[in-house]
Amino acid sequence: MFRSLPTRSVQLTRSLTTHAAPLKSTTPVTRHNWKKDEIQGIYNAPLLDLVFRAASVHRQHHDPSKIQLCTLMNIKTGGCTEDCSYCSQSSRYSTPTKASRLIDIEPVLEAARKAKANGSTRFCMGAAWRDLAGRKRGFERILDMVREVRGMGMEVCTTLGMLSPEQARQLKEAGLTAYNHNLDTSREFYPQVITTRSYDERLDTISAVREAGISVCSGGILGLGESDSDRVGLIHEVANMPEHPESFPVNALVPIPGTPLEGNDPVSVHILIRTIATARIAMPTTIIRLAAGRNTLPETDQAMCFMAGANAVFTGEQMLTTPCSPWDEDKAMMGRWGLDGMRSFEQVGVAKKEAARLEQVVTSREASAATL
Ligand code: SF4
Repeated sequence: MFRSLPTRSVQLTRSLTTHAAPLKSTTPVTRHNWKKDEIQGIYNAPLLDLVFRAASVHRQHHDPSKIQLCTLMNIKTGGCTEDCSYCSQSSRYSTPTKASRLIDIEPVLEAARKAKANGSTRFCMGAAWRDLAGRKRGFERILDMVREVRGMGMEVCTTLGMLSPEQARQLKEAGLTAYNHNLDTSREFYPQVITTRSYDERLDTISAVREAGISVCSGGILGLGESDSDRVGLIHEVANMPEHPESFPVNALVPIPGTPLEGNDPVSVHILIRTIATARIAMPTTIIRLAAGRNTLPETDQAMCFMAGANAVFTGEQMLTTPCSPWDEDKAMMGRWGLDGMRSFEQVGVAKKEAARLEQVVTSREASAATL
């Protein structure tokens, strides 16, 4: 199956300027009409030219010294009916991951407090299932988790599979900041990775999240056996959404024994940097999240990813099922490179959505006061 990355080298062209033009007042901050060829042209540029341009765009829209620290917790592990071929939590594969039930609230709050004390400003909770159908009580417990973690002043994110518009609305009301639902790869390559959920179903969930006023976190996984064109296809898909996702996670496959992709070769750091830089240029205001696989990268490679526009990491004890770089190592690394943690709700797009939520809360409180 998809055991190795394509060996075709990218066609290098020197069509890029080596600096980003200054923004004029009439220049739209974001574009949503990218042509795939345009993005392919950016992706194909000589790597250092590409990084230089991405770094310039990054500096126009973000404080380059700031990295968002996020901590991820698996609140319901394994036993998932989906067949995502990279995932150790699918019940279709024989993997070391054991299935468990949805955990109680208190361990979640304890983990969130610890994450906050260590400098994480976003707390993400993941549950391994296709959707929330038939999980009324579990969903209520998750809504409570969201309320409590949000009450700590942290950004709170969940990844719970497919959502209906009503479920998205309830999550928003509970105070959810962001919802993660990755597209994983291009529309063309996707059926070779997952067959139990369509690309359009993923897009429907993303639309429900956006319509509910929740920030969208949607990105991909590199190293699935995809081509350069698929990596460009993924960026093209998200960069042409009506609103860019506020967060674009870039994962490097961590091959899990027992999954169909267990023998895949690791993705090269050049592909990782090229993908991050291209996403940064196509989606200038989005947070680009260096996610799974980061702990295998030497510090200098991570720094190059930050230079190319990555400005968030997962830090703590564990990703969902793969290792994570610990807080103390990350703090030391960031100190060496002059980087610092981002504050909660510092990203403009996320802050706007949060402001709208707070306004709604104030308005509904005023309305109920008026009817008393
Ligand atoms: S990635 Fe998510 S949906 Fe896919 S098998 Fe794993 S837990 Fe299930």
